Amino acid sequence: MTTSEIITIGDELLIGQVLNTNVAWIAQQLSALGINIIRDVTVGDDENEILRTLKECYSECDVVVVTGGLGPTKDDITKGCACKLFNCGLTFNEEAFQNVVNRFKNLGYEITESNRMQAMVPDKCIPLQNHNGTAPGMLFKENVDGKTKIMVFLPGVPLEMKGLIEDYVLDILKDTYQNNGLYYRTVLTQGKGESFIAEIIKDWEASLPENVKLAYLPQYGSVRLRLTAYGSDLEKNKAIVNKELEKLVRLIPEWIYGYDDDTIEHAVGVLLKKDNLTIATAESCTGGNIAHHLTLVPGSSDYFKGSIVAYSEKIKNDVLGVRKETISKYGVVSKETAEEMSQCARKLMNTDVAIATTGYAGPGGGDETSQVGTVWISVAGRNFVISEVFHFGTNREINIKRTTYNALKMVYNCLRDKKLQ
Ligand code: ATP
Ligand code: MG
Repeated sequence: MTTSEIITIGDELLIGQVLNTNVAWIAQQLSALGINIIRDVTVGDDENEILRTLKECYSECDVVVVTGGLGPTKDDITKGCACKLFNCGLTFNEEAFQNVVNRFKNLGYEITESNRMQAMVPDKCIPLQNHNGTAPGMLFKENVDGKTKIMVFLPGVPLEMKGLIEDYVLDILKDTYQNNGLYYRTVLTQGKGESFIAEIIKDWEASLPENVKLAYLPQYGSVRLRLTAYGSDLEKNKAIVNKELEKLVRLIPEWIYGYDDDTIEHAVGVLLKKDNLTIATAESCTGGNIAHHLTLVPGSSDYFKGSIVAYSEKIKNDVLGVRKETISKYGVVSKETAEEMSQCARKLMNTDVAIATTGYAGPGGGDETSQVGTVWISVAGRNFVISEVFHFGTNREINIKRTTYNALKMVYNCLRDKKLQ
């Protein structure tokens, strides 16, 4: 099996000033090609450390992807390290220079000596032209003991890195290491924790073929279940994974909302569109986050009408129309208030469906009947209203996310079961 390591370079990554999103994105691309990632390493802008890491990783695996430190500034020393590792000099690349000239002409900037330097590439590499920036990527391909090894250097800026990988690197990797048959599918669930799901599917999991592995990927009350088949025969692996996936789906149908790269908001949108229904939200503790998620989906204007962020009691009362007596009698975080919010929102925005949330997102708040983390979610249809209470923790951000995904899953269930017609 083809093995790889990822090296991300930059002091800002080491000290946590910039979140290392490159490594996650690159890892997803490599694993989708069936390449086994055995390690990722982050190093600072230090020549000795960079060189040591480059050498170590290159000796350990087939493919090394490096990002960062290719720019024109003093702290960008990766190119020099690449030359040292591959024992070569720099050569002027006309195409890369023209790229810089054209970009700068469009921006009205002057070309400086450091820009010329950007067009210098190691003479043993294949230069990869950067359509989103000035620093070209550099790909080294060698035959070592009868095996092809690739080391590729890319800029740290995520957009530039992604462009170069999509434009060149993926095709080169596919052509070079085509004998890989790894195949995987992911089942997306929401509403139950991983231990709950693990208990239901344990017999099936234990019966999986040798070359098939199951991974649990939990996040904010959703659990993604990824089934991977290893081996060289892609067609055989596809058949095995899809057959096992069918068995898995039959065990937990209630909790599933989609597969692979799907999202809950997209899944809700598909069902709304199919039945020609419209939706609105009335959000207290989620502050508009459900509306934000619904509108992340292209084409959501077909079914999403609007949202009222009814954060204060006054807005719940004056704008939404929730009765004062309901709030004073049952409390602002209660089944009655949540249900009245969803019903009022539906009528006010004249939709088929409405979602409402009211809760104590934390870390403070709560009252004598409801603790911090208590959230009521309600879904209303024309002749239908339901609500459910959740008890989350005290982390505000997590509570908002969990409320959002659970609310969307509640609507999804109602639509799937045709309760909102
Ligand atoms: P430039 O031409 O912009 O100097 P570069 O190759 O030198 O490109 P860096 O200087 O290392 O790249 O990083 C540029 C910016 O890209 C950083 O300030 C940071 O915001 C972002 N960046 C770098 N590495 C990563 C990473 N691993 N994940 C996410 N963002 C990153
Ligand atoms: Mg830089």
